[in-house]
Amino acid sequence: MLVTLIKGDGIGPEVVASMKKVLKAVDSKVDFEEINAGASVFEKEGVYIPDRLYKSIEKNKLAIKGPITTPIGHGFRSINVELRKKYDLFANIRPIKAPGPLDLKFDGVDFVIFRENTEDLYAGIENRVSSDIALSIKIISKEKSQRIARAAFEYAKRNGRKKVTVVTKANIMKESDGLFLASVREVAKAYPDLIFEEILVDNCAMQMVVNPRKFDVIVTENLYGDILSDLGAGLVGGLGLMPGLNKGKDMAIYESIHGSAPDIAGKDLANPTAMILTACLLLEDCGMTDKAKLIRKAIYKTLKDKNNYTRDLGGNNTCSKFTETLIKNLGD
Ligand code: ATP
Repeated sequence: MLVTLIKGDGIGPEVVASMKKVLKAVDSKVDFEEINAGASVFEKEGVYIPDRLYKSIEKNKLAIKGPITTPIGHGFRSINVELRKKYDLFANIRPIKAPGPLDLKFDGVDFVIFRENTEDLYAGIENRVSSDIALSIKIISKEKSQRIARAAFEYAKRNGRKKVTVVTKANIMKESDGLFLASVREVAKAYPDLIFEEILVDNCAMQMVVNPRKFDVIVTENLYGDILSDLGAGLVGGLGLMPGLNKGKDMAIYESIHGSAPDIAGKDLANPTAMILTACLLLEDCGMTDKAKLIRKAIYKTLKDKNNYTRDLGGNNTCSKFTETLIKNLGD
């Protein structure tokens, strides 16, 4: 199976190299078509995303990417946002669950965030009204809100989840968030077997740090989803552990939550777990659940020993040593 691979920049190349080694070690049957994007490509070719990358994604329909630093200026908001918009990858799915026995404030946190990926303040409709006043427009449509809601409810139904929580600020943004909420409510009616709950985003943030086990599947708008998933990541061990994906109708791009982490790039300090778990999501979606299970078991075992912790987890292990140990643990 051919998958487009974008190694990205910052810690991207390091965590991608680790992920590739692990997939090879389990003989995953995934072959990569490697094409990069970002600042290094811009320097040579004058574009951030080369045409051959678009062509490859369109052909393979599946891509996995490392983080790419957001260019400042040059007309692009972000390469990630650009790819999500171009291919209408409307669902950003982020499972929030600790992949190993870590010392956490809460055990048993296990929820999944479905973040609408194409609208909201990320639509990029902004202007400077005067030198002292700027305007950003928030767009919410019934169609796109119901599309993400259906994805969340269908996921809940298929994966034995019990509850879907919609997160908005509909008490204040009565039109935009009001429409999102009304649209999700309508979809919820078709799933009477699932508990449907509504919560305001400020209360949701508080509940997440007080009683996170109450959440099961969350469906929300673009900006709230972005913030809540970082909050969620913090609950279960941090950004170095959190996978994610962007799904459209017949295409998906798998990417971890974390950014390119320029502060630790090139130093062999990154935690590759997020990237490896992101690959597990790809394997699972492609029917290779046995391989993903093997990898998840090895990650669990690796995280059992604090000597294996990378710096983000409070240890001083390197990315490459962590990977070596994880691969050894695959055999046990
Ligand atoms: P972006 O805007 O692209 O999301 P960011 O600056 O908000 O990026 P990250 O690049 O994800 O955030 O980094 C936030 C912090 O988390 C940094 O201190 C970084 O070193 C750390 N971090 C992120 N990912 C990892 C990782 N895989 N391993 C170790 N530390 C990480």
